[in-house]
Amino acid sequence: PITVGVLALQGGVGEHIALLRRASAHLVSSQPETLPDGTSFTFIEVRTAEALAQCHALIIPGGESTTMAIVARRLGLLDPLRQFVKIDNKPVWGTCAGLVMLAEEASATKQGGQELVGGLDVRVLRNRYGTQIQSFVADLDLPFLGEAEKPFRGVFIRAPVVEGIIASSSSFVDNGTEKVNGVGKGVNGNGTGKNGSVEVLGVYRKSGGKEEEDIVAVKQRNVFGTSFHPELTDDIRIHVWWLKRVLERFRHGDLVVSA
Ligand code: GLN
Repeated sequence: PITVGVLALQGGVGEHIALLRRASAHLVSSQPETLPDGTSFTFIEVRTAEALAQCHALIIPGGESTTMAIVARRLGLLDPLRQFVKIDNKPVWGTCAGLVMLAEEASATKQGGQELVGGLDVRVLRNRYGTQIQSFVADLDLPFLGEAEKPFRGVFIRAPVVEGIIASSSSFVDNGTEKVNGVGKGVNGNGTGKNGSVEVLGVYRKSGGKEEEDIVAVKQRNVFGTSFHPELTDDIRIHVWWLKRVLERFRHGDLVVSA
């Protein structure tokens, strides 16, 4: 089977596994041609380097990224995670705190810095929208999902946004020239990071007032990140999309796991 792990140190683990199950059932019933004969998915919780080594792909869930980093360090998982993302180039998706973990840089950390896994040549701003009570739900238009019959309900909980792209070790391309609350205003769109192009897959546009856009979904090579939490909705579309990307890589034969 294709083994998809969910990093289970802290955060929304069960919610992702539940949606992954529904998304894979949907693929099997509606698009069986996407699954090579006899292929099936299995979903596991990852707490050890041994479990990680069994995975073809991984989700890092939402939660609290400082905590996740501390626990990962204690369990000796940070370097195996970096290897998984940056050397093995396996498909990885981070939601919210998971996106923070997958960024090369995070700013506005009260702790004055935290360890990250990295992989996305971006800088994220943590807690862009404030505290827990400033959580909100907003309709997002996500063109990568194709002809959408309805917008995607984005659940934002102490969410990070992508501030800009790290183009080289000395240059940072901000998401906008004008600053609003310290965050770039307006989206330059896709850019080139240190290790290839970073695609902006989704923005959140506040309604009313001056137009202001935040980058809330990005992809660079094997790494995908969203500021919001699809696993806290019952909308399987992003999970289906991502599993299809995993399947493409699997069919290509370049996702190798230890027995
Ligand atoms: N604010 C959290 C962090 O920085 C993320 C919140 C979430 O995952 N819902 O890690």
